[in-house]
Amino acid sequence: MEAMTTTLERIAPFKNEAIKNFTDPADEAAMRAALARVKDRFGERYPLVIGGAKVDTEKTIRSLNPANPAEVVGLIASASKAQALDAIEAATAAFEQWKRVPMPERAQYLFKAAALLRERRFEYDALLTLEVGKSWPEADGDTAESIDFLEFYAREALRYSEPHPVVPIDGERNEMIYIPLGVGAVIPPWNFAGAIMIGMTAASIVTGNTVVLKPSSDSAVIAAWFVDLLAEVGLPAGVVNFVPGSGSEIGDLIVSHPKIRYISFTGSKEVGLHINELAAKTAPGQKWIKRVVAEMGGKDSIVVAADADIDAAVEGVAVSAFGFQGQKCSACSRAIVDQSIYDEFVEKLKARVAKIKVGDPADPSNYMGPVVNQGALDSIGAYIETGKREGRLIHGGNRIGETGYFLEPTVIADVAPDARIAQEEIFGPVLAVIKAKNFDDAMEIANNTEFGLTGSLYTTDEQKIERAREDFFVGNLYFNRKSTGAFVGAHPFGGFNMSGTDSKAGGRDYLLLFMQAKTISRKV
Ligand code: NDP
Repeated sequence: MEAMTTTLERIAPFKNEAIKNFTDPADEAAMRAALARVKDRFGERYPLVIGGAKVDTEKTIRSLNPANPAEVVGLIASASKAQALDAIEAATAAFEQWKRVPMPERAQYLFKAAALLRERRFEYDALLTLEVGKSWPEADGDTAESIDFLEFYAREALRYSEPHPVVPIDGERNEMIYIPLGVGAVIPPWNFAGAIMIGMTAASIVTGNTVVLKPSSDSAVIAAWFVDLLAEVGLPAGVVNFVPGSGSEIGDLIVSHPKIRYISFTGSKEVGLHINELAAKTAPGQKWIKRVVAEMGGKDSIVVAADADIDAAVEGVAVSAFGFQGQKCSACSRAIVDQSIYDEFVEKLKARVAKIKVGDPADPSNYMGPVVNQGALDSIGAYIETGKREGRLIHGGNRIGETGYFLEPTVIADVAPDARIAQEEIFGPVLAVIKAKNFDDAMEIANNTEFGLTGSLYTTDEQKIERAREDFFVGNLYFNRKSTGAFVGAHPFGGFNMSGTDSKAGGRDYLLLFMQAKTISRKV
């Protein structure tokens, strides 16, 4: 009853969760205790969840601590093709009831999930530190964003369930309503292992769809936790079905299945394009054109103009390039610097990066942790070797130790705008510094990749700001600040070109991607 009467007016306006910096001794103690509790759960087994039933499997995914891969964070059941098909059937069956649950009632599940996540904040933070190698503040930023997505999309659902104005016509009563699409495949990446997985799932279910959730194999434990949390808040069986497994083995099968209505994907350009292609083929028995929401890679630039505050720009570039080891789609991987300040910028950047401490992120004194897995270590290492040939290595370039997947923050200067390390997404702690002749040249370089996700400009000149507003072709443009750290609601997020379909996660248009509009006209 309470759910049915919930309206936007009756709940507090959305407000972003504050991110903890752990200077409060109580927060620090709570985080240390949570890390110990999560470690106590290492090696736990997590089954599939299909139609509310826990299902074990023959094959297992081992989720490892990238700071110490000998530690198994969790053993996750890996779905067979037959089990993936079962999950699609379970979601299809559940859709018939779930689509009839009024949107305000569905929003209540998100509000309850947000409340429970808030209570378990430190556990989720600790898991993010141990499963994907996030520093404490990065981990807490991820959990805070997860809570934000739940709170924001719940309110958005309430907004969409209110009447939508149509032009009145004599003799008719007209309305337009939004209804769900059907069964969605939700395929998130590991890098915002909480926030993106939770955001895409929450948007799907609050709009009345049911879900087959295939998490990233590198961060399947946090997804298993969240699926359990949804059961705790009473989400009906079959609304979210949990089927971890290899992308190539069950991913293709799920994406191309005729009963899948849409795919909500975030990940690399290569996988996104593959999914888009598969989804475009009509399978026998398929009654719709599948919708694909694909948010993909980035090759993000920070432009530093001749008139910029150089110290502020150095700081912004350093944190954007090396926060979470450069493994953010929004990470700065190209600093494009006006030649008149280039040498000073490079010297100051070198000194700033030298201060970055790398090590186990469970220790809060470390700013950078490990990269996510052996494959990432190898591919980033290969890019560093390419970079050494394509430019001048001014800092880093090496692996640290032999146990975890640690790399030095690496800066390569004097890189040509069309060099491979200036064009391809590396997804690691590697920054290319490019010299621009002037501001026109800088803007041209900034737009010379196939991507268009985030970008930032440091300048004190209003004219340059105006020019960049027009010409800097990115989905999220920032001035005089870092290129990372988008806040739900404040910075709706998504990119252009090969960065994806510009879904603007955390924005007012996002839920529309999960619904279709129905117009109803009645003669009166
Ligand atoms: P991947 O593309 O490797 O994987 C993303 C997801 O796709 C994983 O769950 C993966 O599963 C799955 N997958 C892989 N192959 C298939 C397939 N054939 N069919 C269906 N699913 C499949 O990306 P990462 O997880 O490595 O994430 C990093 C990438 O994500 C970067 O490119 C980054 O820029 C991008 N990203 C983009 C964002 C944006 O908003 N634009 C935000 C965050 C990240 P499995 O793990 O089992 O292979």
